[in-house]
Amino acid sequence: MADLPDKRAALIDWYLAVVEAADLSDKRYGIKGMNVWTRYGFRARRNLDEVLIREIEATASEAVEFPALIPATEFAKEKEHIKGFDAQVYWVTKGGLADLDVPLVLRPTSETAMYPIFALWVRSHKDLPLNVYQIVNTFRYETKTTRPFLRVREIHFFEEHTCQLDEERASDRVRSNLAAFRRMAEAFCLPYVPVRRPEWDKFAGAYFSIALDIPIGQARTLQIGSVHHYRDNFSIPYGIRYEAADGSRSHAHQTTFGLSERLLGAIVAVHGDERGAIFPSQIAPYQVVIVPIPKPADRAALDAATDELAARLSRAGVRVFLDRGEERPGAKYYRWELKGVPLRLEVGPREVEARRATAVDRLGTKTSVGFEHLETEVSDRLAAFDHELLRRAEERFRASFLVATELGQLKDSAQVRILGWCGSEECGHAIEAAIDGALLGVPEERPPSVEGTPERCLVCGKTEGIRWALAAQPI
Ligand SMILES: [Zn+2]
Repeated sequence: MADLPDKRAALIDWYLAVVEAADLSDKRYGIKGMNVWTRYGFRARRNLDEVLIREIEATASEAVEFPALIPATEFAKEKEHIKGFDAQVYWVTKGGLADLDVPLVLRPTSETAMYPIFALWVRSHKDLPLNVYQIVNTFRYETKTTRPFLRVREIHFFEEHTCQLDEERASDRVRSNLAAFRRMAEAFCLPYVPVRRPEWDKFAGAYFSIALDIPIGQARTLQIGSVHHYRDNFSIPYGIRYEAADGSRSHAHQTTFGLSERLLGAIVAVHGDERGAIFPSQIAPYQVVIVPIPKPADRAALDAATDELAARLSRAGVRVFLDRGEERPGAKYYRWELKGVPLRLEVGPREVEARRATAVDRLGTKTSVGFEHLETEVSDRLAAFDHELLRRAEERFRASFLVATELGQLKDSAQVRILGWCGSEECGHAIEAAIDGALLGVPEERPPSVEGTPERCLVCGKTEGIRWALAAQPI
């Protein structure tokens, strides 16, 4: 068994140990919160990005890439935005030995880099909608404890920015983004809940923000992304205006959709177990590992058979690793389980003889696959594995929520709390104090395990206009 901390009792310690033992990230770089993507971690990241690219491009969005540096003059144009990011930005103030005339911000997010250019691109209603995204590194000076993938200072960031004709079409884009994320989450086998953040916790400069939250044990949640409606809050200061068919001029309404490497952290945190990481097959750096079990007499036949299996799977588009290292097979099983590979094929002389490999998936299901129909049988095993991984995650997801009927029940919560809320900021803050965390906001869909509508606000007792809300301890 892996020598890992207990996941239930010490989630964060367990998480950090898995990230390190599975060699997903190297935190020994000389700047806190700026970690090195290892070869194995980079493979996972690339697979994750492929899912994001596939799903966002299916909704008519195109890739662009803007510079990392933003002039201070542009950064300062939207007041709420700068207030929200002021304490978190890195500044570039020198070029060589000379002080710069206009200091530069290292992008914490790219609104203020993109929107002056959007103002040049958008002239007519024919230029709309403008849907573009980029996957780049962004930088935030985190003062809290940094953790690989979950809280870092150099963030691997996916950000879509759009300009729409009007508020209603921008709302349509928000819905389209939420639907795209639903398809992304299927590839990650991750259940989540979209939650409309309260006014005091929305994105700096947004009209409203919908966050994507994942419960990760006890009352803790992880925000893995967000979709924002900006109305014309940015298009007015940045001058993003278009001429309508009738010659009138209007400001575009804008949206953004942001995701980050936190997704990878969520995959590790949600799926992993006492033996290490568990990757869904679409994200797994290697989907299949082949472990030969050599007996001295038949080495040549075994080498030929395992070469053939690896080559065929690779040709079929399966990410496969043939582990011919010197270690004993047991040590290899242990290591690849720690690294979260979905499917292991064990091949010894007996398997070569029978032309069937023993197949063990990362959840412990043991079967065999015939050499003859290797490609389809491996594909079936991976699909069954993903199915079971999602089923287990959904079971835990449903058990992560509990309705609270008294404010006193929020203290020392062992679950994310579902409660009635009147919508007032005062009651919201009372809820946050009681749970020692945050009022996540109002879920976009009815939360798991509740029926009907709530009767009263948990704090003030009001009975009108009460909605279900979620309270938790975000990490
Ligand atoms: Zn209230």
